[in-house]
Parts: sequence; C-alpha cells; structure tokens
Amino acid sequence: MVIKINTEVCTVCGGCIDICPATAISMINDNVVIDNDLCTECKICVKICPVNAPAEEE
Ligand code: SF4
Ligand code: SF4
Repeated sequence: MVIKINTEVCTVCGGCIDICPATAISMINDNVVIDNDLCTECKICVKICPVNAPAEEE
C-alpha cells in the first residue's frame, strides 16, 4: 500500500507539503508528488486535502 496524489484533481495548493510530518511531499515540475520512501502512511495528507487528491493505492 502506498499513498499517491491524483494530479488530475490536485490544485497544487501546497497544504499537504507544509503539513506532512515526514516531509515526504514536494513539488516536482508543477506537480505535487509523494516520496514513498519517506512516507510513513500516516494519512494526514489524505485527511486535510480539500479535493481528496491523495489516496491509497495497492
Ligand atoms: S501519508 Fe503522511 S507521511 Fe505520507 S505523504 Fe501523507 S502526510 Fe506525508
Ligand atoms: S492538499 Fe491536496 S490539493 Fe493541495 S497540494 Fe496537497 S494534494 Fe494537492
């Protein structure tokens, strides 16, 4: 299981970047991406994203 950001719906508001306790989220080429090597799957970004862009994937 990994958390991935659906770039189709992400508005690049940056909220999850600031709040991720593992600093696993960053902006790359105007897309917000999660480094799954750093992500602890705490799901805080899933909870705070206003457009439900981060989601669990198998
Ligand atoms: S699940 Fe937690 S650790 Fe992983 S990217 Fe989201 S806020 Fe960061
Ligand atoms: S909080 Fe949601 S909309 Fe904002 S940058 Fe993160 S994934 Fe994108």
